[in-house]
Amino acid sequence: KDLTFAMIKPDGVSGNYTTAIKKIISEFGFGITNETTVQLDEETVKDFYAEHSSRSFFPGLVRYMTSGPVLMMVLEKANAVADWRALIGPTDAQTAKVTHPHSIRAMCGLDLQRNCVHGSDSPQSAVREIAFFFEKSSSG
Ligand code: ATP
Repeated sequence: KDLTFAMIKPDGVSGNYTTAIKKIISEFGFGITNETTVQLDEETVKDFYAEHSSRSFFPGLVRYMTSGPVLMMVLEKANAVADWRALIGPTDAQTAKVTHPHSIRAMCGLDLQRNCVHGSDSPQSAVREIAFFFEKSSSG
């Protein structure tokens, strides 16, 4: 079985979508092998999203991702990375509501920034992200 990294972002947690999202996770055959709720700090978000650091939306992304607690999970299933990406739908939640109305982002996302969930975009990203959040002994 494969692993992927999933996160319920601050809008998903504060909007009380955790139970609904976990129900979908279980119905679609994913196991949750590890999970933790944390309040991310600025430095961690900047590090996690470093690839976007030069983008104009980056400061807003950092504010959004530090605006409240997130729930991080390691999901296990055959083809976990692609299947979780398919389940969450496109980045822009407004687009998701039109093109993927049954996706998680269509259910709980608001717009291009506040899209309520994250999923690793490749098996390589999944390994990096799981290590980043679950296998670190220090905060660096
Ligand atoms: P994620 O990595 O969170 O699963 P994604 O892979 O669909 O999302 P990315 O392109 O990696 O999307 O962008 C990371 C996050 O940055 C998005 O989920 C969204 O919250 C935010 N974001 C991306 N593009 C924009 C934008 N143009 N304007 C505002 N926010 C954006």
